[in-house]
Amino acid sequence: MSKRYTITAALPYTNGPIHIGHLAGVYVPADIYARYKRLTGNDVAFICGSDEHGVPITIKAKNERVTPQEIVDRYHKIIKDSFEEFGISFDNYSRTSAKIHHDTASEFFKTLYDKNEFVEEVTEQLYDEEAKQFLADRFVIGTCPKCGNEESYGDQCEKCGTSHNATDLINPKSAITGNTPTLKETKHWFLPLNKHENFLREWILKGHKKDWKPNVYGQVKSWIDDGLRPRAVTRDLDWGIPVPVEGGEGKVLYVWFDAPIGYISSTKEWAERVGKDWEPYWKDEDTKLVHFIGKDNIVFHCIIFPSMLKAEGSYILPDNVPANEFLNLEGNKLSTSKNWAVWLPDYLKDFPEKQDVLRYTLTANAPETKDNDFTWKDFQARNNNELVAIFGNFINRVVVLTNKYYNGIVPTPSTFTAIDEDTLAAVKAYPAVIESSLERYRFREASQELMNLARLGNKYLADEEPWKLVKTDEARTQTIMYVALQIASALATLSEPFLPFTSTKLKQILSVTSSAVEISWSDISTKDVLLPANHKIGKSELLFNKIEDSEIQAQLDKLEANRKANEAANKKVEPQKDTITFDDFTKLDLRVGTIIEAEKMPKAKKLLVLKVDTGIDVRTIVSGIAESFTAEEVVGKQVTVLVNLAPRALRGVESEGMILMTETAEGKLVFVNPDTTVKNGLQIS
Ligand SMILES: [Zn+2]
Repeated sequence: MSKRYTITAALPYTNGPIHIGHLAGVYVPADIYARYKRLTGNDVAFICGSDEHGVPITIKAKNERVTPQEIVDRYHKIIKDSFEEFGISFDNYSRTSAKIHHDTASEFFKTLYDKNEFVEEVTEQLYDEEAKQFLADRFVIGTCPKCGNEESYGDQCEKCGTSHNATDLINPKSAITGNTPTLKETKHWFLPLNKHENFLREWILKGHKKDWKPNVYGQVKSWIDDGLRPRAVTRDLDWGIPVPVEGGEGKVLYVWFDAPIGYISSTKEWAERVGKDWEPYWKDEDTKLVHFIGKDNIVFHCIIFPSMLKAEGSYILPDNVPANEFLNLEGNKLSTSKNWAVWLPDYLKDFPEKQDVLRYTLTANAPETKDNDFTWKDFQARNNNELVAIFGNFINRVVVLTNKYYNGIVPTPSTFTAIDEDTLAAVKAYPAVIESSLERYRFREASQELMNLARLGNKYLADEEPWKLVKTDEARTQTIMYVALQIASALATLSEPFLPFTSTKLKQILSVTSSAVEISWSDISTKDVLLPANHKIGKSELLFNKIEDSEIQAQLDKLEANRKANEAANKKVEPQKDTITFDDFTKLDLRVGTIIEAEKMPKAKKLLVLKVDTGIDVRTIVSGIAESFTAEEVVGKQVTVLVNLAPRALRGVESEGMILMTETAEGKLVFVNPDTTVKNGLQIS
């Protein structure tokens, strides 16, 4: 039964590339769903685009001394490329800076304005007289009234986590000029969410109690029960969509008002391009609208956007909003600012052509019902123990044996045994089993059912052992290989939503890419023959390769380096020590010397025993630099030595002096030395 689907995926915010958390939470499940709906014969519009307005983009632009447009142009391209590279099959990927979006959002606002759906309110906001602009929350910095942090933002203190109003800060300062802002009256338009409370209670709390995910339903319920308040839909800012009514000069639509309308304008853009009418996708009651998002967006997609659509009056409402929880990385929260993430462009550089491995790992371990952890060890195990050992191994055996025994021709079966009949019947049941999981947005479960089909194939071959029978029972061997090839064919089609690159490759190996032999999703449960006898398949090719421990260690090392760099970047510069006299200084005898020998101190992780030519003598110095340098690396280096430090014994070795060091951002020690070679023994003064 064909149906029309409008499937949206959260618009990524365009101030950075995307990472695995975005992919796991939103884009992979949305893509699996869209591909599955297309494969089962539905009319699908899979819609997304870049969210390019809002304050963080303007701040990033200011910091980098470029225009906001340059920021969004840069990241729109990076993000769009990542989606294409990972096979996210959007029908349209637009951007909110596009004219069609400005027109659509502007018109939407105008309609609600004309219908009196907004309330106007004049409030006092902080204003920077020098910059001649109102200050968005993030443009105000001051002392947190709760914890005393002197660098709290206007909306939230990052130290204690308290959210507050910019006007609550003690000693507020403008982040633009550093001046103390003044209070100035400004008019804004608010969407009175309280007016929509009854509708929301009826529609979600009563209507979707059974079919929405408990985490989504629960969050919506607590928002509604806490009481809904009017929410501003405009902002005093110069980056965004101008407020299209009288009194709106110098103001733009709040990014959260315009962004979800981006789904509509992206659908329009797509319809125009392919010669369709966009309206049924948003206004026909028979269309099923599904929003894929992360849990931080629930309030916007379940309360604010539906209230906007309802107020407008001509739109359908979402049928479901299957929001995911968050993905963590190696036990810690993913963080852009701390660079604790796996960025998609980096992943593809390190694991070229392994998009499906990441898609599979993120799906098999998706944060569907609670926050979940991505670990590189699990990634390796999913690849080596499931994709390689089960899926890949089964296909490889089938294809290699078919080529070996029959020159690649699918053999004609003789009588089926009970095991053959059961196996073929089990294959027929798989589309319904996978569908049942996908219809309930249980993508982890669905991916495991797909793997179970490969397991079935592996077990069938292991039990029937065609490689033994081939010498004694030709007819039976042909039947076994025929049955195994039917399973391989089913896998080629059923894997497409989950492993699109593998599916394509497998179809090429089985030579089923022409429409004459390609089977559909529903054929698997209705047709008896999936791959006919006498069809010629291609040569064997590995679908997956083992991932070695060293590759995993390299990723862990990279994360550790990021963590250290981040710590170093946030390290406070130590305050200056007490003043000393010139005489105090001249007591230090600092000389230039050269390391002439070095060896590791046995059983000491950090220590190197050095022989240093100080120009005065050659002496032994024990130095705690072994974690940053090997013994070989330091021989021949010219260094700065404090030569009149009282000798002391370290692990039984007498050390006569100290070598001066400092540290890089990554925590690696570096020598403090003259920038050109000089004579050993020269004094430093
Ligand atoms: Zn605070």
